[in-house]
Amino acid sequence: MEIIRTPEAMQLRALDLKRAGRVIGLVPTMGSLHEGHLSLMRMARKSCDVLISSIFVNPTQFGPNEDLAAYPRDFERDEFLCKKEGVDLLFYPESKMMYLPDASVWVDEGRLSSGLCGAERAGHFRGVCTVVAKLFNLTQPDLAVFGEKDAQQLRIIERMVRDLNVPVKIVRGPIVRERDGLAMSSRNKYLSEQERKNALCLRRSLDHVFEQMEQGERSVPVLREAMRTFIEALDGAEVDYIEFVNEQSLLPIEQVNCNTLVALAVKIGRTRLIDNDIFYA
Ligand code: AMP
Repeated sequence: MEIIRTPEAMQLRALDLKRAGRVIGLVPTMGSLHEGHLSLMRMARKSCDVLISSIFVNPTQFGPNEDLAAYPRDFERDEFLCKKEGVDLLFYPESKMMYLPDASVWVDEGRLSSGLCGAERAGHFRGVCTVVAKLFNLTQPDLAVFGEKDAQQLRIIERMVRDLNVPVKIVRGPIVRERDGLAMSSRNKYLSEQERKNALCLRRSLDHVFEQMEQGERSVPVLREAMRTFIEALDGAEVDYIEFVNEQSLLPIEQVNCNTLVALAVKIGRTRLIDNDIFYA
């Protein structure tokens, strides 16, 4: 596995591969890798000749009061895992190489970004779209795999690719969970033992309302309240949002009468976790 540290070297290498007719697959990550990331690498591996993964904790997608400095980093372990998964090129740039001090062009999605995590995290998706566009230009992928764990992000990237005619096929990777149902996340490392137990309330509250929907309950206010009550029964669990939205448009609904993305963000102590599931009506 080759490690590439500069954007220039990455782009030259990718353009060479492209000219040689190689099919390039990309899995962008912020590192601190877990099975969720590795599952995306395995998916990409199946459909490409050259697998590129990137590790970059992108500063532009973090708000001023978020965990950029504290975000878990362990490059040696990540390098080992990437090698094991058959990654051919690992792109690991420094922040100052990716953004010049006077950078002034951004990619801003204007519709899907406004609700859910976008409502809470101003500028977050602008940072995500911009870095993903840059990574696409630097690595020239034919396909790129993104996880359903970040359902809103995935749909925004699909929209960016559609609206800007970006020649990259976006592949959706299912959420990988711990055995007890907690969605894998680099941020799970922040949780204390008690918080780790409490964190199960995300998946369990989803299970709770999915059962109700299967039994015919269609009122979103009723379902949302049931989730909120379930979560806030726990000490130290605070709901950021619970949203029921059309799975494609991400527009809020009042009745579950279409394929519905149920998405939530909950603070467990100081750690903000997200989860989601899709109900097929
Ligand atoms: P991150 O390192 O958190 O930026 O995530 C990099 C990619 O991995 C994104 O496409 C995420 O959606 C995806 N991802 C993160 N956690 C999971 C998970 N538990 N299951 C599947 N994909 C995931």
